[in-house]
Order: sequence, then structure tokens, then C-alpha cells
Amino acid sequence: MTTKPISSNIAESTEEVRELFRNAVLAREKAHCIYSGHKVGAAIRTNTGKIFSGCNVENSSYGGCICAERTAIVKAVSEVGFLEISDVLVVTDSRDPWPPCGMCLQVIGEFGKNPNIYFANVKGNFSLKKFIEIFSNPFRRGFLSSK
Ligand SMILES: [Zn+2]
Repeated sequence: MTTKPISSNIAESTEEVRELFRNAVLAREKAHCIYSGHKVGAAIRTNTGKIFSGCNVENSSYGGCICAERTAIVKAVSEVGFLEISDVLVVTDSRDPWPPCGMCLQVIGEFGKNPNIYFANVKGNFSLKKFIEIFSNPFRRGFLSSK
């Protein structure tokens, strides 16, 4: 499994990763986060190479909040239908980059077998983990057809 140390920086990464980062940072600026005060951006790349981005959208009824990762995925599915996610990048302004939450990992697992998960801060420091490293046993659709 591939795991990069927290000291990795986007500037020293590949153009593919830098492109995801730029998209996530731009989306983050649109965050509606008047309750948490935390702007979060995300970008996903599908197996066709297309990138979709999203931000967190909070709501006064907290259950109506949606994370940046799920915003990006919902946008992607609504535009292209079923897709396979190859990469996810999440960016916040925290010193220690945040991984996707459990709910987002479950949704990522619906559309990606084992994508790369980058979690970064706005300074470009990031970690890279494979999906399965941080969510080893997602609930997959196969469970629904087994008895
Ligand atoms: Zn989340």
C-alpha cells in the first residue's frame, strides 16, 4: 500500500495531484460554513479523467449539512451518471490535514473500489492513503444481494 508521510507537499507532487489540489482549493472558497467556520474543499477524479469539485454546505438544521467530498460526488453523478472514482483530494486550512469522515468514506466506497485519498491543507502539505487503508470494510452493494 502507498502511504506518503505528512511532510509531502503538493508543489513537489505530480501535475495530476496539483490539478486536483487547485480544483479543491477553488471549490473551498465557495464553502457555506457559517456554523462550523471550517471551509473545506474537495475534488474527485473519475476513471475517465474528469474532475469534479465541491465544498461543504452547512445548514441551520445540522442534519442537512453535506461535506465537500459528497458534494463533489453528487455533482459528478448528477452530471455523468454512474462513475468510478480514482482519486479524492480534501483540503482544509488545518495544520494537520483532515481525512474524509465516515459518511463520506461510505459514499466514496459506492463509486470507487480503492481510490487514492489525499488529505491536504491549504499550504499544500498532504498525506496519501489508499481508501482501503482508512476504511477497510465498507458496506458494499454485494451485501444487499446475499442472504
Ligand atoms: Zn464527510
